[in-house]
This record gives sequence, structure tokens and C-alpha cells, in this order.
Amino acid sequence: MKGTVYKSTGSWYQVKSEAGKFYDCRIKGKFRIKGIKSTNPVAVGDRVEFDIEDKEGAEQGVIKEIGKRENYIIRKSVNLSKQTHIIASNIDQVFLLITLNNPPTLTTFIDRFLVTAEAYHVKAVLLFNKVDTYNEDELVEVKYLAAMYRNAGYDCIGISAKTGKNVEKVREMMTGKTSMFAGHSGTGKSTLVNAIEPGLNLKTSEISEQHKQGQHTTTFAEMFDLSFDARIIDTPGIKGFGVVEIAREELGDYFPEFFELKQDCKFHNCLHLEEPKCAVKDALEEGEIAWSRYKSYLQILEGEEDNYRADIYPK
Ligand code: GDP
Ligand code: ZN
Repeated sequence: MKGTVYKSTGSWYQVKSEAGKFYDCRIKGKFRIKGIKSTNPVAVGDRVEFDIEDKEGAEQGVIKEIGKRENYIIRKSVNLSKQTHIIASNIDQVFLLITLNNPPTLTTFIDRFLVTAEAYHVKAVLLFNKVDTYNEDELVEVKYLAAMYRNAGYDCIGISAKTGKNVEKVREMMTGKTSMFAGHSGTGKSTLVNAIEPGLNLKTSEISEQHKQGQHTTTFAEMFDLSFDARIIDTPGIKGFGVVEIAREELGDYFPEFFELKQDCKFHNCLHLEEPKCAVKDALEEGEIAWSRYKSYLQILEGEEDNYRADIYPK
């Protein structure tokens, strides 16, 4: 039988068959996935093939095969083993919730998140939440940021999880797809998910509080079917999108608006720093690329911490 993994406990997997029935499955033998050294061979979102065995009258599944993953997100374990833990796979999109204040979302955080999403090959959509609370100046800022990120190639929507503004648009974007929600604690993930699907409570926010206290528990993602044709992957303890190690020469490829221009740089391995005839720097001077994006690029390149918010009116 074929199915999709909805839940993993590390030793048991809940798999939904194509016919829509849930089976408890385990794995037999050793699974090795080429190129990944991970603590868990099977992750939520995996498409698997399994057999049903009759165990004392109860049906039990045995996973035989894991389908090729379209993408997957990982976490490096913090303990000494330095093993990789695959959190989830086959994710169609991630919605990043952004608020200007309460809490503030820095553009460096957004850019770092987007770089990670690009590196994971997961489509990212930016949701500017709490538009019901913004004054005129703040609305100008949201519009500026949305225009900037659209220019970089991302869908942006201003929403209010509280009043329901544009929540229908998010629902439409989710239809037929598997989505994740990310963003700082307090940006409105739970409120939004509840507006989309009343009664569904995400664990994402609860556990990130624990993280601040330095507790590191192994967390497992879980997938939920919504009442319309959509799925959500809940990832407790993961407020952002993890950290991916990216080579310096690769970083520019994860800024879509830079990548588009790269072929016009004089040097094929241009880092868009001080090299002559750099198309990215030219576009920057022309105002076709946002300074704040370029500043984030430099910060990530130099391995600096997030510490600034984009100027609305860059110098
Ligand atoms: P999470 O930590 O990302 O899950 O954030 P929550 O959903 O718990 O929201 C944090 C706080 O922001 C709660 O008090 C919500 O009621 C509030 N909130 C969430 N979305 C909105 C919104 O669109 N407008 C307003 N005014 N408040 C919101
Ligand atoms: Zn260049």
C-alpha cells in the first residue's frame, strides 16, 4: 500500500493510506537515505510504501520503502552526536508571519529565513499580520516592505488573523497543498491557524518558550488534515526554519533577485562585493535591488547577528 506519514514518534509512524485510513507502522531493518546522515529514517510528509501485517488481531504496518523527497527540512542536534534530524518533508509552502512591532520582526530575520527556505527548496510566502493595529505610518512601512519583497520574488499579503482580513486569501493559497507556519512567537500563528481551521491548536508557539530556557527536547512534527483540501505540518519548537550551512559562493543564489542577475556579472563566481562589473551592485545603485536585502546578504556572508531593521527610506 501507499501512504503518507502524518506523525512520527521515533519508533512508530502514523501513515495515512491512499484510501484515507490511518495505520500505525514501524520500520523493518535499516533504512539508509543517500546523502543524509540522520537520526530518523522516516519523517512526517514522507510518501511511503508499506505492508499490513496481522499482529494478534490488530493491523500493523511495516514501512518498506520511502519515496523520493521533493524537499525536507532538518535540524542539527545540539548534543555531541551532531546528527541530523529530518523534521518534515514534501512541504509545498511555508508562510512566514511578520509583525512590525509586538513583536518586531527584523528584516535581517526575514532575509535569513528566506535564504533558508530557498536552500531547502521550500516556497515562502510573507504574511504581514496585525494590519488592524497599524497607524498610517506603519501601514506605509508594511506597503514598502511588501513591495520590496515582491520585487525580490515573494508573494506578500497583509492580513489580520483577528479581524479575518485576507484570511480567505491564505485559505485559497493553502488549498490542495501542505503548508507550514513560521514566525516569532506572538506574531499570530495560532490565531491565524484557528481562523483558518477553528479548533486546531498548533504546538509551535508553546514549545518555543521552552527553548528560551535552554531545554532541548526531541520534537517531532505532525501533519493535520483540515476540513478543506489542505494539510498543515506543525513543528513544535521551531520558530524559524533552522540553520543551513551555506557556502559563501552559494549565498547569492538564495537571493532570487541577485541570482537572476548573476549571469551578467563579469566573474561567474562573483560575490557581489568589490568585483568590477558586478550586475548586482549596478542594480543596487539603480535602485532595482533593495539596500536592505543587500545589507542582509553582507551580514549573512560575514556571519553577523541580526541587528537592524530596514530603513524605509534608505540612504
Ligand atoms: P503565536 O505565538 O505566533 O502563535 O501568536 P498568537 O496567535 O498566540 O498571537 C499572539 C497575540 O497576538 C495574541 O494576543 C493574539 O490575540 C494577538 N493577535 C494575533 N493576530 C492578531 C491580529 O491580526 N490583530 C491583533 N490586533 N492581534 C492579533
Ligand atoms: Zn556580482
